Amino acid sequence: MIFGHLPAGYITSKLLIKRFEHRSVSSDGFNFLGMLGAIAPDFDLLYAYNIDEFQHNHHTFLTHLPVFWLTLFLISFLWLNLSDKHSQNPAYAFIFSLGGLTHMVLDTFTGAIYWLEPFSNTPFSLTSYDLEYTTLGLSYFAHWAFVLELAIIWWALFLRFKKS
Ligand SMILES: [Zn+2]
Repeated sequence: MIFGHLPAGYITSKLLIKRFEHRSVSSDGFNFLGMLGAIAPDFDLLYAYNIDEFQHNHHTFLTHLPVFWLTLFLISFLWLNLSDKHSQNPAYAFIFSLGGLTHMVLDTFTGAIYWLEPFSNTPFSLTSYDLEYTTLGLSYFAHWAFVLELAIIWWALFLRFKKS
């Protein structure tokens, strides 16, 4: 996925913030960390671009392995349940790691994600080829995956501007 990650992080934060009201989390901080988590896996592109020079698919890096985000998510979930009911940091850790996990799901729509790593290195994808690595150019905008991205962007805009 290319354009949908940031708005997806916004949607997740916006939909979940009410559940953390008793922790009096700051909505700006919560939204920011949700969106940061949603794009954090793609920070490996800096490494891929500058150091690795795209010799490897960045979806094989630790930052794109679901096991990494699932571990962070489970730790934050435990922290959330074991912590004092008013502490805010577990809520921030939770929304950040959930953002990373959502990124894994969304990337499965457009490319290969190694869901079973480290037990098996078989990639899973909902498309027949890797849209991020195939030079589709402008034809990407005619692909159903782009319609999905538009729907995510539309949903985020709807949540941002709807009158509550
Ligand atoms: Zn990605």
